[in-house]
Amino acid sequence: MKRISLIGATGSIGVQTCDVIEQHPDLFELEAYAFGTNVDVAEEWINRLRPKYVSAKNIEVLEQLKPRLTYEPLFFIGLEGLIACATAERADVVVTAVVGAVGLEPTLAAIEAGKDIALANKETLVTAGHLVTAAVKKHGVSLLPVDSEHSAIYQCLNGERRDDVSKIILTASGGSFRDKSREELEGVTVAEALAHPNWSMGAKITIDSATMFNKGLEVIEAHWLFDIDYNDIEVVLHRESIIHSMVEFKDAAVMAQLGNPDMRGPILYALSAPKRLEIEGNKRLNLREIGTLHFAEADLTRYPALRLAYEAGRAGGSMPTVLNAANEAAVELFLNGEIAFLDIERIVEQAMETHTVIAEPTLEEILQIDRAVREQIQQGK
Ligand code: NDP
Ligand code: MG
Repeated sequence: MKRISLIGATGSIGVQTCDVIEQHPDLFELEAYAFGTNVDVAEEWINRLRPKYVSAKNIEVLEQLKPRLTYEPLFFIGLEGLIACATAERADVVVTAVVGAVGLEPTLAAIEAGKDIALANKETLVTAGHLVTAAVKKHGVSLLPVDSEHSAIYQCLNGERRDDVSKIILTASGGSFRDKSREELEGVTVAEALAHPNWSMGAKITIDSATMFNKGLEVIEAHWLFDIDYNDIEVVLHRESIIHSMVEFKDAAVMAQLGNPDMRGPILYALSAPKRLEIEGNKRLNLREIGTLHFAEADLTRYPALRLAYEAGRAGGSMPTVLNAANEAAVELFLNGEIAFLDIERIVEQAMETHTVIAEPTLEEILQIDRAVREQIQQGK
């Protein structure tokens, strides 16, 4: 029996994680459930899975939830609540499904408490990859990817020798605007940006997919997860999202992992690996039906976000923190209708240009830079 703590439980990944847990009651038990403000979704899943710890974003949300529960768990709120859930005594593994750098402190606390991590929250690894990977080593826990591309790479590396890898090839669907030229991106709306062709996901990552910052964040995520040089990480456009990613070896052999786009696959594998379990409702791949798969160059001029992410990754130190914080702040402004779509990459580039890199930032420095970048963008909007 594996006891799971889930932070960011009411979101797209969170709800699919609950579904996966419910499908295997003999193997998984939900120990802790942390969410933000979505009381309706929280009520439903908490009553169904009966976790011992429950945390909400603030006291008002918690008070709304309490009378709707059919039993009495231990209640928490805020960042402290996220940390309490992430370090819940009996939890074996923490699924990090919150969105944004708010996941950093709970993730580090979980690692320090000896919990394994199933990581969906890529922003944590982007903003502080060196701290997270060092803590994972120090405390001897495992860090398994939930992100579909990284899950694919992890599966392609099964049983392989690390020295034999020549490169990682991340596939990118191209997001909602993949068929638009840069000129056509002027004036696109929030609703258009939120319409992803292949995946149904939270708002922030859907915008990130449209700008290509998502793939940029994933390049940095891959660097830290697989300890691989940026020169050996390639991005290729693949509009069907059937090949989730690939690994090329030194003998030119390429391993790929395929499947229909359904995040429950990678979520389940992050919890069950190296074992494989069944998932009800996960449609099997029918290549005859699909017929053709397409691949194309991920052009760095068409996708400046990808260029910026490689630049931030190569600059290292605190630069990815700036890229991530600036992107989070800019996406929020865009979602609120306060800036245009193309302003997102402009704001990120500006924030990077004015930043002087700190080589090995401490947690305090990262939190401080993260805060400062957000404030600056908020004020300059
Ligand atoms: P959603 O926006 O759907 O969900 C985010 C979750 O985090 C919600 O439960 C939200 O609570 C909670 N949350 C946000 N801020 C706080 C806070 N301050 N305190 C407590 N809880 C908070 O995001 P996704 O599920 O789409 O994505 C989650 C992470 O997984 C992201 O890092 C994303 O990049 C990554 N990911 C997602 C994929 C997907 O298919 N969705 C695929 C690969 C990676 P509430 O809504 O109740 O306020
Ligand atoms: Mg992904």
